[in-house]
Amino acid sequence: MEQIRRTKITDLLKTTETGQIVNVKGWVRTKRGNKQVNFVALNDGTCIHNLQIVVDVPNFDESQLKRITTGAAVSINGEVCASTGSGQAVEVLAKEIEVMGDCDVDKYPLQPKKHSLEFLREIAHLRFRTNTFGAIARVRHAMIFAVHQFFTQKGFLNIHTPIITASDAEGAGEMFKVTTLDLDNLPRTEEGDINFKEDFFGKATNLTVSGQLEGELAALAMGEIYTFGPTFRAENSNTSRHLAEFWMIEPEMAFYDLNDNMDLAEEFLKFLIKYALDNCLDDLKFLSNRLQEEEKGKKAEDKTMELIEKLEFVLSNDFIRLPYTEAIDILKNSKPNKKGKFKYPIDGFGSDLQSEHERYLVEKHFKKPVILTDYPKDIKAFYMKQNEDGKTVRAMDVLFPQIGEIIGGSQREENYDKLYNRMTEMEIPAEEMWWYLDTRRFGSVVHSGFGLGFERLMLFVTGMGNIRDVIPFPRTPKTAEF
Ligand code: ATP
Ligand code: MN
Repeated sequence: MEQIRRTKITDLLKTTETGQIVNVKGWVRTKRGNKQVNFVALNDGTCIHNLQIVVDVPNFDESQLKRITTGAAVSINGEVCASTGSGQAVEVLAKEIEVMGDCDVDKYPLQPKKHSLEFLREIAHLRFRTNTFGAIARVRHAMIFAVHQFFTQKGFLNIHTPIITASDAEGAGEMFKVTTLDLDNLPRTEEGDINFKEDFFGKATNLTVSGQLEGELAALAMGEIYTFGPTFRAENSNTSRHLAEFWMIEPEMAFYDLNDNMDLAEEFLKFLIKYALDNCLDDLKFLSNRLQEEEKGKKAEDKTMELIEKLEFVLSNDFIRLPYTEAIDILKNSKPNKKGKFKYPIDGFGSDLQSEHERYLVEKHFKKPVILTDYPKDIKAFYMKQNEDGKTVRAMDVLFPQIGEIIGGSQREENYDKLYNRMTEMEIPAEEMWWYLDTRRFGSVVHSGFGLGFERLMLFVTGMGNIRDVIPFPRTPKTAEF
């Protein structure tokens, strides 16, 4: 076969020029036709659309054409022609065909029909080859790029924080242990405890639940930083919004108070959503249709807003900003609470908000994204700035429709004594956190930050309902296949 430089399908579909000879490579989605002519739909992952390959059957070996099946990898040299069919401007009239990789089509799990998302999770090694997961993979990449672009434009530094950590201040009980000790023959201290002095790092270590604490160290010298790394939580909650391994973006800024922090969070989310609309429209349109198809049977009031409309809606509205105490009043007096419709009834100050409450506020009451601030200190982390009232802290959670909490953040306690006392109250070993406390002794300043769960953002942008479908290889309780 003649060697011609490969053209990507996304680029080819943008041309209107015809007559040139090109090479395309990809995987066959479908083949149909008759004894005279075959039409092969070819996809190479570069866009949602397939390229139509027209094959004049008499020009090729029958045995070779037989090998062009769904799932096979092929390389095709052919002429770009104006397409007579609907959908796209150009197609390729095949001159030479090479089957690069045959597909055992009887055993191939991906048949050209609709498969359930649950089934596709079981074949996550192949699900990239479906329209839905191809679209999600491209949107995911665009969002990763947009995160870095946003912060780079603003002069933030990307800091890599450790994945293995000896501090468990934040993750009490939710951390994965990291060890090289022989689990069948654990070294013991005289008291009979496991002797971690003999472990790889000479102490007990875990996978990180957040890069924030180290992020703060960097912010208190570099000004504005962000982390974007994997985080691990051994929470045994099998929900559609929790993963055991997920990616988190954590900006941390010196000289920002809670209002500055909220401004940044809102600007950031809007930037990402706008970036998706500007750069991923084909994929978003596909995902929108998929969603509408899925919701066809539902009652009008149970249907979600059309995806692109929903994204534009968030862009064009200011987020509501509201203290927790006022949210509690709204929830307490709400219909679902009075009628006992909430699984977790709200009885007043101190109640932790569940996603049913968060979604009620956003979807039913305000019909806009909401930032709740000033939560009770007892349901929030030790490092949050304490308010004068002695009861609340300067926390902020950003709540989104369909998702609930998408961002959690706060102004940080910069006062050494207040921070130290709070740690003691919450039984956090201050001696082990000496390095964190040091920042409050050496030039401490007002500072703030937040964490955006990257897969929660992906849920919102793609309209997918389950977090297992917006990360290529999900890690959840009892599943770590692939
Ligand atoms: P939630 O109440 O939803 O469990 P959280 O309060 O534990 O969230 P934070 O510790 O504030 O969450 O983490 C910051 C962000 O990380 C959250 O706003 C969310 O977007 C995301 N996040 C938290 N836990 C998970 C998880 N298990 N899987 C995916 N994303 C998560
Ligand atoms: Mn949680």
